[in-house]
Amino acid sequence: MEQQRTIGREVSRSGIGVHTGNRTSITFKPAPPGYGVRFQMKEFPREAPIEAVIENVVDILRGTTLGKNGVKVHTVEHVLAVLMGLGIDNLLVEVAGNEPPVGDGSALPFVEMIQSAGMELQDAPKNVFKPKEPIYVSEDGVDLVVLPADELSISFTISYSEPGIDTQFLSLPITDETFIKEIAPSRTFCPYHEVQELIVSGLIQGGSLDNAVVVNGDVILSKEGLRFEKEFVRHKILDLLGDLFLLGQPLRAHVVAIKSGHGSNIKLTRLLRKKAMQERAPAPRKATEGIAPGGMDIMRVLKIMPHRYPFLLVDKIIEFVPDKRVVGVKNVTINEPFFAGHFPGHPIMPGVLIVEAMAQVAGMIMLTKGENTGKVPYFMSINNVKFRKPVFPGDTLRLEAKVIRLRTTTCLLKTTAYVGESVSCEAELMCSLVDQDSR
Ligand SMILES: [Zn+2]
Repeated sequence: MEQQRTIGREVSRSGIGVHTGNRTSITFKPAPPGYGVRFQMKEFPREAPIEAVIENVVDILRGTTLGKNGVKVHTVEHVLAVLMGLGIDNLLVEVAGNEPPVGDGSALPFVEMIQSAGMELQDAPKNVFKPKEPIYVSEDGVDLVVLPADELSISFTISYSEPGIDTQFLSLPITDETFIKEIAPSRTFCPYHEVQELIVSGLIQGGSLDNAVVVNGDVILSKEGLRFEKEFVRHKILDLLGDLFLLGQPLRAHVVAIKSGHGSNIKLTRLLRKKAMQERAPAPRKATEGIAPGGMDIMRVLKIMPHRYPFLLVDKIIEFVPDKRVVGVKNVTINEPFFAGHFPGHPIMPGVLIVEAMAQVAGMIMLTKGENTGKVPYFMSINNVKFRKPVFPGDTLRLEAKVIRLRTTTCLLKTTAYVGESVSCEAELMCSLVDQDSR
């Protein structure tokens, strides 16, 4: 079991923000298991901290901006990359001055902060997301593919039509060690002609050769030349890690990126988040499981349903979401009266009775409404009925009905009968309520 991580003590750093040029500071504070990573803006102490999840991304021009209720924090990608690289799950990040200090344009300053605070293992397992199938984003010559794997690794290819920035490829597993040694020290880079545009558009008011590598053809403008062979692709991996952190849980997969930037990284992260959420949704209840809140035992079913022996074909309602969905269970035993004649020596449940059982469950959607007391449901139509598998004595039918359209006296539902995981029958049913004494 991998344990969640925070840091051992509070740690701060200050400097200049690259986006605003403001004097800024950042403080990391330990946070309890399950807290996640949140940004508290010092200037807005009464606003709730902004959670570092994809839903709070408000801008991706030149860096990742998070925001909520009008409060924003700019250029968080390098901080998040460090938390991704070092596997920090829980942290309160206080920022003064709209954005973290840019430092030298790499992630090293934040790595040093974490190292000086120390990492602390917490008494809770990491909630990792491990995709079971490939997930990809492919657009305008950019490709991002997430392949199932046990550990996080990144393979990145950059290819610019910029003199001085050659095609670079790097593939490596992301561990504390590889991140600190191979990725964190790589710095932001920018072609010379773009610098001019960025200055004009006011996007890098704190930018300088102290915090970026500027490439002008064969000339590298930087305080110390290049730190690595392939420094540029390393920095693209750094940015990608920061964007992937916004998934909101650790990722275990092999991510292959070709020419991607913040825009497509964020698209991919959104897609991953959606998949992770789907997987986290509770699995459908099995027929053998108990009754969920909102469900009904037989005594309650009898109070609502007008049917009785030998025609009551529901034993309990295990799930019930008003106006939306209902799931019932019918235990099919050899003592059902229809088995005596259907067929002697070869008992199978009549298909029309499976449909009747589905309809009885479906009818609960309308019968449970107070204004419908005393009414009975009639079939109006049955469409697209498919019998997939026969039902035998001893089988347990799980009868699911999903509302397609609900009106005052009619309801259209998609219904499915399962035995175990297999579909036995499906149909679209329309029922209508009539007064018991009308003929
Ligand atoms: Zn960057």
